[in-house]
Amino acid sequence: MDLNQILIDCKNKIDSATTSAELESIRIELLGRTGLINKLFSEIKTAPNPREYGQELNQLKNNLEELIKNKSISAVSVNENVTNKKLASPAVALAKVGHLHPITQTERQLNEVFRNLGFSLYDGPEIETDEFCFQRLNVPSDHPAREMQDTIYINEPNILLRTQGSSIESRLLSQEKPPFKAAFPGRVYRNEKVNKSNHFIFHHYQGVVVDKDITLKNLFGTINCLFKSLYGPDVKIRFRNKYYPEVEPGVGPDMECFSCHGAGCGICKGAGWIEMGGAGIIHPHVLKMAGIDPKIWHGFAFGLGLDRWVMAKYNIKDIRTLLGGNLAYKPNEL
Ligand SMILES: [Zn+2]
Repeated sequence: MDLNQILIDCKNKIDSATTSAELESIRIELLGRTGLINKLFSEIKTAPNPREYGQELNQLKNNLEELIKNKSISAVSVNENVTNKKLASPAVALAKVGHLHPITQTERQLNEVFRNLGFSLYDGPEIETDEFCFQRLNVPSDHPAREMQDTIYINEPNILLRTQGSSIESRLLSQEKPPFKAAFPGRVYRNEKVNKSNHFIFHHYQGVVVDKDITLKNLFGTINCLFKSLYGPDVKIRFRNKYYPEVEPGVGPDMECFSCHGAGCGICKGAGWIEMGGAGIIHPHVLKMAGIDPKIWHGFAFGLGLDRWVMAKYNIKDIRTLLGGNLAYKPNEL
């Protein structure tokens, strides 16, 4: 049974409906209790591959329901008395294919900004070794900073789910010959209790630059450029001192809240500023471990936490929503 051909035939039939009564009788003919779809379902047992056939049938049923729904909204109900010709155009836009996940959209937007700044894009393994996730980033096994990242181990003590996108940075430093500029989005994991504001899966967007004569000025310029590209030329950025073992000095960029412009609101929790991530000048010891001479080469690294950024942008109140499967989600209902 060629289900694709059935879909095409049914689509033509639905398209040809000119009144709601006609559309309803087509609906009964296709999806009613004794309709075409149920008849096809009753034949599942005789199909050569029943499981696959059942899945395809379900898909066909969903497609037909969608086609009829779209037709009734976009055409028939508002154009009850118009000609077939006029009806044809709105009903053609049938396939509702959804859209990219907000995290993916934001990642791609950032990729574009960094490509324009001459960065190459990289990916790395989500299952990492202790060496690349910690040791090569200046976090030996007895370092207190490990306490800040509750790690999920695949095989203790060496194989783990990466806790930070910086693991790609340590791989890059050891593999690429400077100078280079690289950006890398990625999913990371920590053993966090899952609730409205914490999840054990989240997303980092990180970058690293290694060249001669790199200073904090280059870092500030890049971060400024990033936020101006995303939020317009009037965006205000400030940097605060922060501590990360792999950089010295470490800084954290805050952006003036795009919603209240510094006055304080729900999105920025009254602060007027939104914390955007961490950055700093790569520690000479990290370069040395990667075989890069810190007397010749310098670098900066930065990391942004994508989840909170996306939540603020789309007014999403519960981080679990980002990884949930409920397509009916409406942000303002939470
Ligand atoms: Zn605000």
